[in-house]
Amino acid sequence: MLLVFVYCGQNLKKLYAMISILGFPYDEKSSFQRGPALAPPIIREFYKSSGHSTFGENGIDTISNMIEDVGDFVISEYFDIEKRCTELLVQNKRLLSLGGDHSITYPILKAYHKFHPRIHILVVDAHTDLYDEYQGDKYNHACPFARIMEDGIAEQLVQVGIRTLNPHQREQADRFGVSIVEMKDYHLWEIPELKGPVYLSIDLDGLDPAFAPGVSHQEPGGLTTRDVIDIIHSIKVPLIGADIVEYTPQNDVQNTTAYVAAKLMKEILSKMLSDSLKP
Ligand code: MN
Ligand code: MN
Repeated sequence: MLLVFVYCGQNLKKLYAMISILGFPYDEKSSFQRGPALAPPIIREFYKSSGHSTFGENGIDTISNMIEDVGDFVISEYFDIEKRCTELLVQNKRLLSLGGDHSITYPILKAYHKFHPRIHILVVDAHTDLYDEYQGDKYNHACPFARIMEDGIAEQLVQVGIRTLNPHQREQADRFGVSIVEMKDYHLWEIPELKGPVYLSIDLDGLDPAFAPGVSHQEPGGLTTRDVIDIIHSIKVPLIGADIVEYTPQNDVQNTTAYVAAKLMKEILSKMLSDSLKP
């Protein structure tokens, strides 16, 4: 029997927390190129490929009755994302969402906030996505972490891989108390300690385009696939949810990015399963 510890505020509750994989084929908040709406079924296809191991690097098999795939949610209105996530979270699920552009993280975390008021957020991204507004839209994919911080959703926000800071973003980061590990200073040990249950958001453009060319904002000088796997397995606290966003298939080269997304998906799931096994 597997017991899972899920934090609800300060209280520790024992729950059977299934992990739900879900997709959001949504890219209406992309500022430059569309494409991430096509991502979820492609990432799934490569994840399910029989061509690679089902074991995470922590030795845990991701073929597990703790994991369910609840399919893709086609949404017509942005905040329907929050509704779909709430319906799953109310059943004590842990969510791994496949994007979609990065705007989906705000409604996902709005849903999480109802169940996890003290959430710690770790982000892998080339960009801070802290714009107060972008292209006249406060919910543009350049803005989700500004909205998240304004709503008081994050107890702690740590962003890793950042290499596009401008004065407005620096100002926003200071205003919201965001911990930024800029790419130019990156070492695994520079990432601040995460002090509670973590939600992990991976924007694939945090990786160097040599490893993940299939994104709409290719920003050279980024993280390696190895770096991101090490970041996942360096998380010491429970991982209560995650997303992998911004996969833009038309820019991919020989499915390199799809394989990377599938690998990261497997490592996230194996980390979540390892949390389930802890006493
Ligand atoms: Mn982003
Ligand atoms: Mn980005």
